Amino acid sequence: MADDNLHALYRELPSVDQLLGSLPAGLPATDAAHANATFAARYVLDKLRLEIAAGQHDADSLARATGKLGETLAAAIPDFSRYSLRPVVNATGVILHTNLGRAPLSRRALDHILETAGGYCNLEFDLGTGKRSRREQIAEERFLMVVARQTKIPFRVLRDTYGLSVANNCAGAMFLVLNALAAGGEVLVSRGELIEIGGGFRIPEILERAGAVLREVGSTNKTRPEDYENAVTDRTRLILRVHRSNFRISGFTARPDLAQLVLLGRRRNLPVVEDQGTGALAPLASYGVSGEPTFFDSVAAGVDVITASGDKLLGGPQAGLVFGRRDLMKQIGGSPLARAFRVDKLTYAGLEGTLADYAAGTEAAIPAISMLSLRPEAILRRAEALAATINRVDFKVSIRPGYSVVGGGTSPGTRLPTHLVRLAHRTQTAATLLTALRESSPAVIARIAKDRVLLDLRTVAPEHDSVVARILNTIAA
Ligand SMILES: *Cc1c(COP(=O)(O)O)cnc(C)c1O
Repeated sequence: MADDNLHALYRELPSVDQLLGSLPAGLPATDAAHANATFAARYVLDKLRLEIAAGQHDADSLARATGKLGETLAAAIPDFSRYSLRPVVNATGVILHTNLGRAPLSRRALDHILETAGGYCNLEFDLGTGKRSRREQIAEERFLMVVARQTKIPFRVLRDTYGLSVANNCAGAMFLVLNALAAGGEVLVSRGELIEIGGGFRIPEILERAGAVLREVGSTNKTRPEDYENAVTDRTRLILRVHRSNFRISGFTARPDLAQLVLLGRRRNLPVVEDQGTGALAPLASYGVSGEPTFFDSVAAGVDVITASGDKLLGGPQAGLVFGRRDLMKQIGGSPLARAFRVDKLTYAGLEGTLADYAAGTEAAIPAISMLSLRPEAILRRAEALAATINRVDFKVSIRPGYSVVGGGTSPGTRLPTHLVRLAHRTQTAATLLTALRESSPAVIARIAKDRVLLDLRTVAPEHDSVVARILNTIAA
């Protein structure tokens, strides 16, 4: 009997087409809008079915709900036409903001994605022989060219010695390398490097999951070459060095140079693996980022395998670079896990395009690099121009010096001088203003200090300054 009642109620629901026909503004004009409205209509109907199933309706209440279903649908459609992944304006001054997608891609990288991903491409197809090829080769040659350019090691020598493969991120790259080279054996790590990179990615746990046994050496603040030497046994598979990218240890501290570790590794016939992390391919000291070694410092020191992120200081897409000695790369590439961590054509295209900027010497066109290198005076000029275009009597606008940061768990001690646009509203709190900015279209993400909203234009693309101005002049706050 209850079932019969439910069936009777379900029968009162319109079909998707009937519902679309009842839209107050008429049927959607374009195919895309129609598809979107259909999606929304299914959602609205499903929601009602669930309410019926939950016993929330009798004939009267259902009639009321279906009577205004066209309006309900019209109200729901905008939610479905908006992507959940949307562009935002990053006015936080955090260049590699992980929550905002880390590194924005260069024009060259974007163009390469467009031209290869909109159709088919030779992802694993050798156009010379017509046979299957390895996708790893896509980025390898370009990367070796960049390494040759920066280290002055001849390309031929590099190509004979090293190879590159790409995993989905640096965490994946590390896991893959440790599993392929050290499963069943021991890995030597300094106690000063048993770190958490973020998001629960902890070196000891990763090692364990990768099937290797951690052998801690030295102490938190001091580790000497002898500490490694004394810990070597016939179970040792490799020496791991982890870049302390997200914190600093200062005071009474020491750890061996990479070169010393490499020497030790050679003497004991153990590969030295470095989790380099940042992927910095350009010397950063000239941008005010000091103490941040580049990828090439690790190559020059003779490290056998280096892992690094694609979307930190390299400025490319999310990826994990694995660069290393050919014999070890063969072992890594041969692991069944390599298949699980492999990346798609979008990543290769974005990475290769970014590397092409480095190879061509146009790395200043990579957004992360250009933002790093912005002079405070240039930011001040833009901040002043923005402040001058704000024509609201309810805002108090001022400019004050401040700092931007690199972000992404990189260069924790580095502060880049900048000039901040400081906003206060005559009646509203800074928190209200911040929310209004976040809910604008596009969303503008800012920060608060001392009950003032602060906008840092270092991380705003210059062509978006006018967007920020428009939003500031129009938001309801
Ligand atoms: C950031 C970082 C990682 C993790 O990189 P993802 O690409 O985010 O996975 C690993 N190791 C170091 C040293 C890092 O700095």
